[in-house]
Amino acid sequence: MKATGIVPISRLFFVITCIITGCDKIKPEQALYLKDLTPVVLEHKGNELFQFWEFENKPLYWGIDTGQAIGLKSYRDSLEIALGKDNLRLAVQKEAKQNETQDIPDSANGDSINAQMVHSGRVGKIRAINFLEAELLNYQLSRYPLLSHPTEFHGFILLNDSLNHIRVYFAASDQPWPPKPTIILDSIKVDLMHGWNLKYHLHNHYEPKSNNYIGILAPSLADAQYFAFLSEDFGLEMALITNGFHTVEIDRKEFSKFKSQQN
Ligand SMILES: [Zn+2]
Repeated sequence: MKATGIVPISRLFFVITCIITGCDKIKPEQALYLKDLTPVVLEHKGNELFQFWEFENKPLYWGIDTGQAIGLKSYRDSLEIALGKDNLRLAVQKEAKQNETQDIPDSANGDSINAQMVHSGRVGKIRAINFLEAELLNYQLSRYPLLSHPTEFHGFILLNDSLNHIRVYFAASDQPWPPKPTIILDSIKVDLMHGWNLKYHLHNHYEPKSNNYIGILAPSLADAQYFAFLSEDFGLEMALITNGFHTVEIDRKEFSKFKSQQN
């Protein structure tokens, strides 16, 4: 059809809608919310849940617009009430910085050394939480609100480039520590033989009230050991730790730089 130079009414309507609502916001019909998607449940034992979702890979899942993560929003709102707006902002900024210059004291324990390695900017990259990470955290926070019932989950994010699909495994319970995801690792072993790659392992960190709640964006000794295991046996490419505001990305090449239970 020949262009007439006249803006169609539908296009004009879209532009006006954009001006009113903001074009950069994710439109509900484009986004996929894990809570609305039926998972494949591998095992549901008491409060322990092991499952996965599979869906088409889209760029918006890696963007920082976190869409309608209601459980996460409610967590952030509760923190603002508990800490006050300014203290919350300072606590979030403190955990996100990567420009600390002081040396690591010899007396520091392994977990503190790992935290200092990230905060000095030597290892890892801290950035805003992305859509998919927010969705996984939101899923667990909708089961157990983080402030009143703190828990950690395991997320394993696999990509299949020929299918252009994402497969996201999730393991969590009602306990502070996530359950052992043996059934998930067995399933991933099979996936790896069928064109899937274990791109990311994601889990969340939180702190007690005495430490302003905001999770440390660095691996614990146990985390560092687990990342090394996942890299060696499952080809894990990158580890992610989120505190609901920011996420630290750690490339597999950097896993051995951290203190682990083995060194
Ligand atoms: Zn951890």
